[in-house]
Amino acid sequence: MDLLEYQGKQFFASYDIPVSEGDVATTVEDAVKIADTIGYPVVVKAQVHTGGRGKAGGVKLANDTAECTEHATNILGLDIKGHIVKEIWIEKASDIAEEYYASFTLDRSAKKYLGMLSAEGGVEIETVADENPDAIAKIHIDPVEGLTEAQCREWVLAANLNDQATDGAVDILLKLYNAYVEGNADLCEINPLILKPTGEVHALDAKVSLDGNALYKHPDYEKYDATQPRDEREEAAHEAGLQYVGLDGSVGVIANGAGLAMSTVDVVNQVGGSPANFLDIGGGANAEVMANALTVINNDPAVKAIFINIFGGITRGEEVANGIIEAMGKVTIDSPIVIRLDGTNAVEGREILEPHLDDKLMMETTMLSAAQKAVELAK
Ligand code: GDP
Ligand code: MN
Repeated sequence: MDLLEYQGKQFFASYDIPVSEGDVATTVEDAVKIADTIGYPVVVKAQVHTGGRGKAGGVKLANDTAECTEHATNILGLDIKGHIVKEIWIEKASDIAEEYYASFTLDRSAKKYLGMLSAEGGVEIETVADENPDAIAKIHIDPVEGLTEAQCREWVLAANLNDQATDGAVDILLKLYNAYVEGNADLCEINPLILKPTGEVHALDAKVSLDGNALYKHPDYEKYDATQPRDEREEAAHEAGLQYVGLDGSVGVIANGAGLAMSTVDVVNQVGGSPANFLDIGGGANAEVMANALTVINNDPAVKAIFINIFGGITRGEEVANGIIEAMGKVTIDSPIVIRLDGTNAVEGREILEPHLDDKLMMETTMLSAAQKAVELAK
């Protein structure tokens, strides 16, 4: 679950990490009321599930009511990388001496948590990683051993922050680590983490992603559900009981088994195409499941061709073939379909499909040739 900045700041605050005082508004009137209460100058910040808001005009300083009205008016409704701003966060403006970057995430290949700290904050960390990778101090943390204060201090010193920031950074990073672990987060990022002219260290932005599987430990995370970005295709698919993940390409993918579905996505990419989704219909490939899968994929306007990749195991080829034919009688599919059917009783299955083949329903003998055909048709 990806939190909006203000939710991330509330999450941080619950772990005693210093953030600016503020409140959230959905109208200009409310924004001004909040700003008048907090006292100027304030910062008006777009709340959307994407970064780079500053560059897009979604973060503005207001010195008085008139400026707050102007910025709130401009930012509400703003389109930031396809995200329309419906909520704004108004917070007390901070004086900044320096901007840093700090985060914790999971390094799967190392089987450890990864902490990253950089004196070059305020810009995208990917840019720093590309242009000046030495400016990022990294620490791997064994989840069982945790992070000690001594390790944390050594890490902060390696990042070459201003000396003035050392104690404050150590304090915040230990709290951030605790929030990351106790809060079951997948990502906790502060960019920028600021040093104020007065010497305090403070979180000026918050990017938090929580592990949805830990919801049972944190019933209060339910409140974040309402603001989650929705993929309508995924909602429809999950309602139909399908294992579906939306992607942004043009080849609809249906396969039986998660492993085969992933390989199918890979092979579509490999032959120069781009999958519109991952869809695992599981073990049973009866007409109802197949019709549901085809309907979900057909409703995605980006889909230009569909690749059904079946390797029969317990599921037998003739069942799948009958399922496909029956499903096509139930729903009208706009895009051409390419089938690859292999495994148990594939010969019987192909015989069933044979009389139905035309320019809307094609069959290929290998996974690779089927992928090539589907990608070609999608172009
Ligand atoms: P992002 O662009 O989506 O990452 O939004 P941020 O919250 O990180 O804000 C972008 C930039 O705006 C920061 O790097 C700061 O330079 C600036 N900014 C944000 N809040 C304040 C503030 O309270 N005071 C000042 N002076 N600048 C701010
Ligand atoms: Mn930021």
